[in-house]
Amino acid sequence: MKIMMKAPAKINLTLDVLHKRADGYHEVEMIMTTVDLADRIELEPLSKDEIKIISHNRFVPDDSRNLAFQAARLLKERHGIRSGVAIGIEKVIPVAAGLAGGSSDAAATLKGLNRLWNLGLSLDELAKLGSEIGSDVSFCVYGGTALAKGRGEKVQRLPAPPNCWVVLAKPTIGVSTAEVYKNLKIDGLRHPNTKAMVEAIETKDYANMCGHLGNVLESVTLKLYPEVAQIKEQMERFGADAVLMSGSGPTVFGLIQHDSRMNRVYNGLRGFCDQVYAVRLLGEGVSVD
Ligand code: ATP
Repeated sequence: MKIMMKAPAKINLTLDVLHKRADGYHEVEMIMTTVDLADRIELEPLSKDEIKIISHNRFVPDDSRNLAFQAARLLKERHGIRSGVAIGIEKVIPVAAGLAGGSSDAAATLKGLNRLWNLGLSLDELAKLGSEIGSDVSFCVYGGTALAKGRGEKVQRLPAPPNCWVVLAKPTIGVSTAEVYKNLKIDGLRHPNTKAMVEAIETKDYANMCGHLGNVLESVTLKLYPEVAQIKEQMERFGADAVLMSGSGPTVFGLIQHDSRMNRVYNGLRGFCDQVYAVRLLGEGVSVD
């Protein structure tokens, strides 16, 4: 039996950093939502006790550095599984882009193996395991829309935001999340209004959702990589309703309500950027599958 899973990308509608903690992590508050741009994960049981990663993307590690590998290893260890699995990763989400591609692959692997190995774990249990792999994995287990706190692992689910187009553009640079956090000066940050964004989502108020987009990491990444600022300007110039960098970047996204304007922004950006996508928000999360 083979299991196929979709592993969708996320964007940050808000990303705030409150302070640096004694354990070295940053205390964050962020609202994330999944979009219809997804890797495809194929899980095939192996009788030999091994975890095999099969990916044809040269930026995706095929060993224990892969977050999907770590997800399988964790489940095997905790549940005494003696057989193996081949994990095929068809990469669609740009790598090191601020779209949580690796975390989403890990989350899809946890959910798929829960089925393949008949473990009967709940979403909450899978999310808890996911937090041991990476800060964004818990959110990716639920998908949909959520407010994440702590280092990102404390997830409160939110309803679907008003639907719209999302044009994503990624310049040909990879950004190291660690480097961005290292350069972040917490004093003097312009914090997004997370509460107002939660309200905009709950009341399905598109204008207010656009008005409250905010990401404190933009100040760092835009300074380190001026091409990100240029893409933001282009997206605004072509008429996106609101524009923000996702995560630590470098992907920039624009929210757009009308089809004709989406086409203008999408086609306009393709002249500047190799990786441009026009997708919808997914909105709702998933039940355990
Ligand atoms: P985030 O938004 O959570 O910070 P990201 O989108 O910026 O994540 P990823 O695409 O997850 O970043 O990749 C970051 C690094 O993680 C890559 O450079 C790669 O070496 C490693 N990695 C591990 N597993 C995976 C995976 N399954 N897919 C892609 N990259 C992976």
